[in-house]
Amino acid sequence: MKTDREIQMPGKALVVGMGVSGRALCELLLRGGVRVTATDMRPRGDFGDALDPLEACGCSLKLGAHDLRDFLDADLIIVSPGVPLDIEPLRQASLHGVKIVGELDWASRFVDRPIVAVTGTNGKTTTTSLIGEMCKAAGRRAFVGGNIGTPLSKWVLDGEDAEVLVLEVSSFQLDTADTFRPDVGVLLNITEDHLDRYENFQAYADSKMSLFARQTGNQIAIVNGDDPLALSRCSEIGSRLLIGSRRLEKADALLRNGRVRVNIPWKAPFEIGLENSPLKGAHNEENLVAAILAAAAIDLPPDAISRAIGTYRGLPHRVEWVRTWRGVDFYDDSKATNVGAVAKALEGFERPVLILMGGRDKLGSYGPLKEGLKAKGKGIFVFGEAAPRIREELEEVLPASSFPDLEAAFHEAVKRAEPGDVVLLSPACSSFDQYASYGQRGDHFKKLVAQLAN
Ligand code: ADP
Repeated sequence: MKTDREIQMPGKALVVGMGVSGRALCELLLRGGVRVTATDMRPRGDFGDALDPLEACGCSLKLGAHDLRDFLDADLIIVSPGVPLDIEPLRQASLHGVKIVGELDWASRFVDRPIVAVTGTNGKTTTTSLIGEMCKAAGRRAFVGGNIGTPLSKWVLDGEDAEVLVLEVSSFQLDTADTFRPDVGVLLNITEDHLDRYENFQAYADSKMSLFARQTGNQIAIVNGDDPLALSRCSEIGSRLLIGSRRLEKADALLRNGRVRVNIPWKAPFEIGLENSPLKGAHNEENLVAAILAAAAIDLPPDAISRAIGTYRGLPHRVEWVRTWRGVDFYDDSKATNVGAVAKALEGFERPVLILMGGRDKLGSYGPLKEGLKAKGKGIFVFGEAAPRIREELEEVLPASSFPDLEAAFHEAVKRAEPGDVVLLSPACSSFDQYASYGQRGDHFKKLVAQLAN
């Protein structure tokens, strides 16, 4: 870890958002001799006694509301993930020239170990965890976190050691980065998502590409060459580019007949079979190829990479098989909160699919699902806030019926399913209209499946 003296500390800092990462940020700043104000819209009572130690160390707390003066007075504002950047005091501060950075960016300034950072619209968590498993199999101590699990600021604060950091990075974290520059950056794909937060798709794509913007010539950029948009923007990348692919002959890692041939110009070539991987589907092949390239880039030995591939089973709620009931297979893909993820889920099935879609609309187009639904869809069962728009866009390819909630949609799909079919929850929307999280929505689906009479 770098010492406080190696980092340019501000005189006065404002931390916005007092969750786990905000509190860790405050401690790091206080330790560095910075005058810290911490603010959160939530009232003091919501935090129990979690903020007492900060207050005891001289941190000034502004809870229940933001005070614009704190924003304008600060030399530096650090925002926790999840704090919207368009809130008025942040906009005002930005207009007045106050520097604003994100939690990940600030915390990364303390790190003196190699960082592997994974971004993309879909597959981040799967790929990040997989690279973490590869490190483990190779006996390398790795911290796996960032946008999943432990925030980077908490890891820095706790002072635990690691030889390498494997970080999942969201577009929000990239938007608030100023110095962040991973030694290995991985871009999985760029498809429509979060259009409720970005001005347009171009702005969202720019955000993803910014992962590579500050890399130096010796750092490594890994891009999934099977994602058309990511591939088309490779010419912008100034660092050492490695491409993974299922079809591009010249790729640095090429998947063919179940084997990945890795040929990195400055390393010895090797081959790895994917036949033992429990991960299924074309999207996971892309994740595996990207992870193999990242692992090779940090010099993990091929046999360790291969062992991890054989044992890594993936995570719940991502095209997760739940049960076979009267010949019908049920899959929970509640984590598919955008159209790109649903398209890939459909690609992975060779049987008729009855699909459950809906939730809170992210305002993108459902059009990219038409091809997959035409080929494999047997019925669309839509629910929640987005139901009318999904139905309107997709009805021309397949009859769609609307239901008030997942449970009603589920029972109708079950009625219509025949042996050999798949019932798939792959909503293309976030869960927040009716659930606290995608996990809760997926668990509800699993419960409904479990309740089907034997
Ligand atoms: P993220 O962390 O980016 O949300 P996850 O690994 O949690 O990614 O997967 C989220 C959803 O995207 C799941 O529905 C999963 O099946 C799907 N998915 C995973 N990898 C990919 C990929 N490479 N391309 C498209 N969809 C994917």
